Amino acid sequence: MARASPARRTKIVATIGPASADPALLVQMIHAGMDMARLGLAHEPVEASIAKMRLIRGAAEVCGRHIGVLADLPGPKVRAGSFPAEGVALSEGAQVGLVPEGGSSGPTVIGIDYPRLLQDIEPGDLIALGDGGVTLLVEAVEPSGAVARVRSGGVLRGRPGVNLPPEKFSIPTPTPEDMRLLDAVTEAGVDAVAISFVRTSADVRAVRNAVGPDGPMLVAKIETPAAVDDLDAIIEASDGVMVARGDLGVRIPLERVPHIQKRIIRSGVSRALPVITATQMLESMIQAPTPTRAEVSDVANAVLDGSSALMLSAETAVGHDPVAAVAWMARIALAAEQEFDYYAWGSELGRRHGASGEAPNATRIVSAITAAAWRAAYDADASAIICATRSGTTARSISRFRPPVPVVAVTPSLRTARQLSVAWGIQSVLDQERSSIDDIVWFSVKAAVEAGACRPGDIVVVLVGFPDELEPATDVLRLVRVH
Ligand code: PEP
Repeated sequence: MARASPARRTKIVATIGPASADPALLVQMIHAGMDMARLGLAHEPVEASIAKMRLIRGAAEVCGRHIGVLADLPGPKVRAGSFPAEGVALSEGAQVGLVPEGGSSGPTVIGIDYPRLLQDIEPGDLIALGDGGVTLLVEAVEPSGAVARVRSGGVLRGRPGVNLPPEKFSIPTPTPEDMRLLDAVTEAGVDAVAISFVRTSADVRAVRNAVGPDGPMLVAKIETPAAVDDLDAIIEASDGVMVARGDLGVRIPLERVPHIQKRIIRSGVSRALPVITATQMLESMIQAPTPTRAEVSDVANAVLDGSSALMLSAETAVGHDPVAAVAWMARIALAAEQEFDYYAWGSELGRRHGASGEAPNATRIVSAITAAAWRAAYDADASAIICATRSGTTARSISRFRPPVPVVAVTPSLRTARQLSVAWGIQSVLDQERSSIDDIVWFSVKAAVEAGACRPGDIVVVLVGFPDELEPATDVLRLVRVH
């Protein structure tokens, strides 16, 4: 077929922190390419995160865009007390004190928000801070604090995570604090929730049970060896997954991370889940105006691996120029997409993944009809694929094939439109409920024309289902000539 779309298809998730929680900056970040905003609930009272969510909603409205908001639960992660925003450099060989309190941290004393710290560590233990860049070797433990030596140095800012030896520290996820935060952000109407330190699919189901079927989209962060082992079941239980390379790289040998990244992306995308590749993607841009060559390669390779979305963390939360970080991410992703082999990806997926005979009827129908839509788009040299979708399932299902033409999701649900902001290649348009298949087709095509995805004379592929059926599923595929 068919032209590769000139618009960027890989989505960008940007973390909002002190450097970016400003209405005018948020508007600029959306213009630069931010599709979804992430709020780290570990770093501030939940009321402050909800206030940021309102700023993001306001900026999205100014831009006329559906920007999803993802709240990231802290999980059982121990954090250090707050380092100043400009950062504190710890050099190799320096001695630091460790105290069990979460207040503040500096160059000589680091607070660690874990009351049992002095009981649970002993001389000889290694403690990693941040995303593993800084490691400390415990030398002595006294009743009032511990003494440690910096083994590998680096700069720490904000509230970095603290990795204690795992065999001494195993609090299950979600924690009671996660559940309290979950209630608050669900009540505030957040679109998606990321679950930290998932170990098994039961952890995801525990969160699902708490929010119910109409709750936010659940994104499982894959950052423990246990989660890598239980990947298929976790994918089955989740609405999206994140390759959380920071903590993953602390818990498994670093050199295995790129390969596990590829596996998580392939497994998640083939089951129609958005997969977000995260952490240290443009790390040097926390201070520098341009990324390093290695970072540019990493972002481009994450696109070529098939990531649905790429995430910025400290770069936009505390970095010196959040807009530039988003703009670079967008620029690198767009260039990598020109090299992506769309046909090879889609045909390989078509060969490997029909829904199994054990899947519910609706799942099998949607899986088969989206595969047919992908094929039809090539055979008819279609200009766009348009799908009417209430929950977003059909849109995510067609997105997994990575069609090279625009994919427009027409939905009556504002929440679905926002959740699809993290789905690869999907442009969402709101439309009211319609009462017949013919009306849904007609108005969906009209909406896609108005959105600029197709024009009179084009052939488009349209996917529709009728929501009032006993077992609703997208079961109609039409090829429409646009008038
Ligand atoms: C990670 O560890 O890579 C991650 C995304 O989680 P957090 O930023 O919460 O540490």
